Amino acid sequence: MRCLIALDDTDSRMGHCTTHLGYQIVSTLLAQGCAFRRYPRLVRLNPNVPFKTRGNAAVALDFESESPDDAFETADSLLSELSDVENGANSGAVFLKGAPDARIFRPLYEAAISGVVNSKKVAKILQDRGIRSSTLGNGMGIVGAAASLGFNEEDDHTYEVIAYRQPGNCGTPRMVDSDSVKRAERETYPHSLNNYDYCARRVLITPHGPDPVFLGIRANSPGAALTTFKMVRYEEELAGYMVYLSNQCTDAHLTKKLALPLSAYSAGWVGGQIVSMVEGEGRHLYISLDVAGSLVPSAVYEPAGDLLRMARMLMRGDKVRLFGGVRRATSKHPAILNIEKIEVVWVQPKVRYANPACEKCGKATKSEGTGKGFQCRTCGAKAVGKMKEITVVPRDIHVGIYLPSPGAQRHLTKQLIRYGREVCSPHPIVEGWIQPERLRNLQLPTC
Ligand SMILES: [Zn+2]
Repeated sequence: MRCLIALDDTDSRMGHCTTHLGYQIVSTLLAQGCAFRRYPRLVRLNPNVPFKTRGNAAVALDFESESPDDAFETADSLLSELSDVENGANSGAVFLKGAPDARIFRPLYEAAISGVVNSKKVAKILQDRGIRSSTLGNGMGIVGAAASLGFNEEDDHTYEVIAYRQPGNCGTPRMVDSDSVKRAERETYPHSLNNYDYCARRVLITPHGPDPVFLGIRANSPGAALTTFKMVRYEEELAGYMVYLSNQCTDAHLTKKLALPLSAYSAGWVGGQIVSMVEGEGRHLYISLDVAGSLVPSAVYEPAGDLLRMARMLMRGDKVRLFGGVRRATSKHPAILNIEKIEVVWVQPKVRYANPACEKCGKATKSEGTGKGFQCRTCGAKAVGKMKEITVVPRDIHVGIYLPSPGAQRHLTKQLIRYGREVCSPHPIVEGWIQPERLRNLQLPTC
């Protein structure tokens, strides 16, 4: 029988990781004889909600079991055992027999990826339909867990192989050979995504916290993710790894047109014409956009790097679509759109007016006043009835899509290289998608 287990918010800022719990549950279920014909899913939700841990990631495990209730018991006990409730995890889990009902879960996913969803409302929906769930802490994780069941493999998606550390190594620096990462990046281009930031000269596949994730490599196919992983050199004995299918790198949170006035923590886009651009404190750039007669305040921040450099080349009159999340209003500031992607739709031509050159000697002329012509500054020759010359100055910016530097991109950011390379049908399970495949004596992390 097809079964699903969805989890969210099992981690905390102190360590642990929901994807790691997912890995442990999958390993245990495999050892118990459950079959995986679909990849476990790693589902990112609205990155703008204030109550989240690190990446606002939920996990949905999709498998076949002859005794679903036993599988659910196993997962539920691992959840209680390993959730970091003392350090602020507010875990939620949903257990489902049969395919997820799109009428229930799809709207939840769409709401949770671009807005804020009330956890009590979700708990009620599940309860009314007799769907098993469990919560720890304040139970906020029920939102992400239920929402993750609305993400489909037929939606644009990517894959990530996540490798985990031995418990004793957690908290120590991750030693990865950056040359091998660069080489892997070159050889798997354009199928692997954001492994190395050439501008910042920084490896992007390793996190920096105390969590058990050693590295994560994202790609357009499970094969490309695993190939890239095998090319990376590192000095550490790992606990294992698993491939996730994910909505990362798809811009899934930016598809909705934002309603005005901007509502706090929502994500999406607005389109309009630039009215003003002001540089503020910290070199942040504030753009005011005319959206069908309403002025929408927005900002690009210094860490955005490439996006900020590009935004500075915009000017009043340019037509753009601005994508991002809404920062809530404070007593001092109105709600503002934090820009994470800019699409330039139309570039205002820039023109320069200049006095004509002297017809006799070719030198500069001065104006004699409106409609009175020009006189040469050098030879004194007059030119009556001539007009100022108009030259079109080339703009440094073109129609197109612009993103922050790789290191400043979000988990959900769709890389330019993925446009036209969207993946909307799932890859079959490949050999070696999880290692070790069957963990008989599961090592539980203490980090
Ligand atoms: Zn002259």
